[in-house]
Amino acid sequence: MASPIEKLVHALSQLPGVGEKTATRLAFFILKQKVDYARELSEALQELHETVCFCSRCQTLTQENPCALCQDTRRDQSLIMVVETPQDLLALERSGTFRGVYHVLHGVLSPLEGVSPDDLKISQLLSRVKTGEVSEIILGTNPNVEGEATSLYLCKLLSPLGVKITQLASGMPVGGGIEYLDPMTLRRALEGRREIH
Ligand SMILES: [Zn+2]
Repeated sequence: MASPIEKLVHALSQLPGVGEKTATRLAFFILKQKVDYARELSEALQELHETVCFCSRCQTLTQENPCALCQDTRRDQSLIMVVETPQDLLALERSGTFRGVYHVLHGVLSPLEGVSPDDLKISQLLSRVKTGEVSEIILGTNPNVEGEATSLYLCKLLSPLGVKITQLASGMPVGGGIEYLDPMTLRRALEGRREIH
């Protein structure tokens, strides 16, 4: 039977970028704090799955469904930017340049890591386009091998549906994620988007 410390170290070491060494350090840090801290942390973790869900339209993580962005009538609901993660969505929102709505894939195609189309929110995207209320899809995946492959795959699926498809302008640093770009670069990438279908 694993001790509580071992259980916590094991759980923390599953987090991205956290190895066993860091997990151990974090576990002992938590242990050293007042008991209130551990309680607060565990409550927040528990609430996460109880109150956060996928938006039924854009698939981002939200506490209300549809999310605030999908409900916002001032935004162009016919213009959809496809992004990999909710973090990318937040980066674009922070840049304040985009007035449409989003679709979050929750990952990219990656045969090496066993991520297939069924693992991403692709069928939900197709359903949105099929309603006929979408005028343009902007492919906003990241400029790396997986992002490009995912973009290409989506383009093939979307082309027959007769929707305008554009891609964020090159000029985004290759290998640099949207999440880490400054607002100016994002704005240029958005304004310079080109039609690919
Ligand atoms: Zn939404």
